[in-house]
Order: sequence, then C-alpha cells, then structure tokens
Amino acid sequence: MVLGAVLARGRAMCRHNGLLILSVLSVIVGCLLGFILRTRRLSPQVSASGCVCNVIPPLTLGVGDASLMSGLASLDAKTSSRLGILTVAYYLWTTFLAVVVGIIMVSIIHPGGAAQKETTEQSGKPVMSSADALLDLPKIVLSGTARKPPRTDPVRTVVFEAESHSRWPRIHSDPPTSASRVLGLKAPCLPRYFPFGIVFLIAGKILEMDDPKAVGKKLGFYAVTVVGGLVVHGLLMLPLLYFLITKKNPIVFIRGVLQALLIALATSSSSATLPITFKCLLENNHIDRRIARFVLPVGATINMDGTALYEAVAAIFIAQVNNYELDFGQIITISITATAASIGAAGIPQAGLVTMVIVLTSVGLPTDDINLIIAVDWALDRFRTMINVLGDALAAGIMAHICRKDFARDVGTEKLSPCET
Ligand code: ASP
Repeated sequence: MVLGAVLARGRAMCRHNGLLILSVLSVIVGCLLGFILRTRRLSPQVSASGCVCNVIPPLTLGVGDASLMSGLASLDAKTSSRLGILTVAYYLWTTFLAVVVGIIMVSIIHPGGAAQKETTEQSGKPVMSSADALLDLPKIVLSGTARKPPRTDPVRTVVFEAESHSRWPRIHSDPPTSASRVLGLKAPCLPRYFPFGIVFLIAGKILEMDDPKAVGKKLGFYAVTVVGGLVVHGLLMLPLLYFLITKKNPIVFIRGVLQALLIALATSSSSATLPITFKCLLENNHIDRRIARFVLPVGATINMDGTALYEAVAAIFIAQVNNYELDFGQIITISITATAASIGAAGIPQAGLVTMVIVLTSVGLPTDDINLIIAVDWALDRFRTMINVLGDALAAGIMAHICRKDFARDVGTEKLSPCET
C-alpha cells in the first residue's frame, strides 16, 4: 500500500515536473556523451558538429523583442512609463551591485597571484592612469552601450507595420497580427524539444575542449572567484532584495524558475531561455503576463548581472596576472565600464567575452590576455547566464509586487495574478 502511494506520488511529480526532470537528465546525459565521445577517435567533421547545436539560441532571439513591444502596447502610457522607469532603475542598481560583489571577491581571493601569465609581450606596459581613464569614460561607455547589433530592426518594422494596420484595441491584448504572435508560434513547441538540444549542446562543448583537466587546474582560482561571486550575488544579494521588497519567500520563487535556470545553464543564452523563463513565471510563479512581457525582454537585453560581475573580475584578474597595481580611480572605471559592457552584450553565448575589450581598454590593460580566460569561458558563461536569467525573473517578481495597484486599476485588463492578491 505504501509502495502504491509512493508510486502514485512519483507519477504525479513526473506529470507536473516532467520537463524539469527531463532537463536535469539531459544535462547528465550530455556530459556523459561528451566524455565518452572524447575517448573515441572522431573525424574532424563529427567533432565540429558540436558547433551545429549553437544554432539553437539565435532561433529564439526575435521572440523577446517582439513580445516586449506587444507587452508595452498592452499597457496604458502612465502604467508603462512607471513600470519602465522602475524596471530600468532596478536593473542598473542590481548590475552595479553585482560589479561591486565581483570586485570585492577578486580583491579578497586574488586569483591572479596563483595563475601563470601566458602572453608576455605586453608585460611592463603601463596601464592608463586613472585620470585618463575617467576622461575617456563617456566615449567608452557610449561605444559599449551603442554597440547593439541592428538585428531587431526588421522585426520592429514588422511589428509597427502590423500594429498600425490593426483595428484591435491596443490596451486589451496584443494585436493578433503582431510579430510576437508570429514568432510566438514557435515558442510553445520549443520547451518540448529543449531536453534533446541540451544533450547535444553539452556533449558538443566537451568535445571541443583541448584538455579539460589541465585548463581547469590552471584557471581554477579565477573560476572559483567568478562562481563564488555569482553565488553570493544570485543566491544571497538578489534573494535578499526580493525578500526585503516583497516580504515573500525567495526560495519558493527561485524553485518556480528552476527549469529556466537549467535551460540557461545548457544554452548559455538568456535570449534563448526567454520563452521558458516566461512560461515558468506565468505558470509557476503566477506573475502578471503584462509585467513579464515587459520586464523579461528588457532584462534579457540590458540586465546581465552575471556578465557584469564576470567582466569586472576578469579585468582585475588580468591586471593581477600582469602585476599591474590598479588604483581607486581605475577600479571605479572598471566598475562603470563593466556595467556598460554588460548592457551592450547580447543575450547569446560568450557575448560578454567580446564586450570585455571595452573594460580592458578603459584602463589600458592588454586585450590579448583575453586568451588567458577563453579556455574556461564556456563553463563560466553557463553560470553567469543562469544569474542573468535569475536576475530578470526576480525583477519581474519585484515589479509585479511594486506595480500591483497600477495593474489592479488598469481598466479592461486581466484580473490580478494569484500571487498579488
Ligand atoms: N551568455 C550570456 C547571456 O546570454 C552573455 C554573456 O555573458 O556572454 O546572458
């Protein structure tokens, strides 16, 4: 009888958490497959096929932009501007907080002292003085935040064209002809296929690595610093902020978005994770759809706490490896440029590695030394993407709490979500 009850419970659990269980299994199977295939002599074509899996993240890129625009269209001007200002202010504040956590961690652990410098040709070159760095800052910050690829322009055109021709009321729901509808058609079917993608994404990455053991040992301290910082920020600072503002249990909230966090871990792309984050927030955490539609796509574009933290740690690590002493002004410059570089990074794999050039050049650090951290970046990218996604999800929870009255007042719109009543 007891066995029957346990089996029934297990079946119910699988029914409700099927996709989550599948996602965990696919991470494990992907790791096993990758390590097993490494022991086989594979042709270059087969080894390179791991890269084919990287087509998954761009598949969903357009969904976020389109749902942001249709999300905005479903709110009145006053509500959307209040939500917009609060969201952007919150995002900037938490990103800066992440940078501060990263700087404290890297200063305490000092991973550069334990590492060996590989590229020597640049050593001895003086870093930019803090005065020069601060004078150059506006130019660098603008170049960092203005470097968004113009990939969304055609989508915007489609949305605005579609909406201007639509006779549907903008306040109540999306115009049925909007691009988010068109792009969203593929979103409901994506979750079902994600576990298969996860297996091959992880196996492919393990195949691509030269020598996982040696690389892991050499950059261990640096990796521990980044992951430690991400843990402090993602599992301490952000949940504490959520609790202080909403007075709700952050663990329950994080449990609700666990599946999205696993997808972020597997895909290294906050944009690719967007449909799952959206689904988790709506179905598990009961966040108002209109809030999620605004807060999540904006977050996937500008809010990357994990990326900002990693950029600050990596820049200071490179300075430590080169025996460069950074003064207070240079640390401030790094914190500002790391924030700007994370805003400029796209929600795709290893975008942070590209925008890190901005942080390094802001204080005159050698950009060649990015080579030093490339080896472990594929792994760190997965963890920082998780924190990026978690930051967006918690922001949606916080905004749903702060703006609950605005949304209750909104005429003709949906009822309050269960977690807000
Ligand atoms: N992969 C990260 C993301 O998609 C961006 C990065 O830090 O490279 O959120």
